[in-house]
Amino acid sequence: MTTLVTEAIVLHAFDYLETSRIIRLMTRDMGIQSVLARGARHSRRRFGSAVDLFAQGTAEIQVRPNRDLQSLSSLEVTRARAQLAADVGRFTAASMIAEMTLRSAGDEPAPGLFDAVELALDRIASASPGESIDAALAGAWHMIATLGFAPALDVCANCHADLDPTAAVPFSHSAGGALCARCGTQAAGSRVLPPGARNALREWTTGGRAPSLSTPDARAHQRLLREFFLEHVGGDRELRAYRVWEQGEWSAA
Ligand SMILES: [Zn+2]
Repeated sequence: MTTLVTEAIVLHAFDYLETSRIIRLMTRDMGIQSVLARGARHSRRRFGSAVDLFAQGTAEIQVRPNRDLQSLSSLEVTRARAQLAADVGRFTAASMIAEMTLRSAGDEPAPGLFDAVELALDRIASASPGESIDAALAGAWHMIATLGFAPALDVCANCHADLDPTAAVPFSHSAGGALCARCGTQAAGSRVLPPGARNALREWTTGGRAPSLSTPDARAHQRLLREFFLEHVGGDRELRAYRVWEQGEWSAA
């Protein structure tokens, strides 16, 4: 057994037996780790807010090789991110980011992805209620780019011809991004990406911000992101938190 001390973010947590919680952590040094926080439900003194969703801090984990569930000794919280629980839009957005992270990462070290997840959650936590969708889209595309799946935006994903930056272009998930007109006519299931949407993707994939989206544009971006993520990273299983994020606010309005 070895002791691992690493920066960690709580992505998923549920009660286990009478007294404990099982937590899925994104760690800087060992990717995703499932840990048992023994006594966490009875002893707030030992874990405090550390076993709450989206908390971040320094975790001490007892690691046994070839086990799926490790043991959490302590988690010293430096960021509780309580703002995420205070607004349903922020909470569902952060839950979507957590789901995408759990779907994308294994137990290998992934410091770049860790930084991208941290940035995404911080931006959602500080977003005004009307801007949480923009912040989540930005964070999710930055994560996808960090994973190495950034869509082609300035050259054709198929033939690599330069694209007019001011033009609406065909966009194909399976081809991996924007296409020239010629390749677009041959790609099944491509859609038209307006120049504003392409600019937003360019900003988001490089960690930047884009102008605030209108409601129809935000909905179109939520759909585009879902389709692209499932095509390149997420596999076949349904994204449940994503569906809640994508549908929740609109159906509640
Ligand atoms: Zn082309």
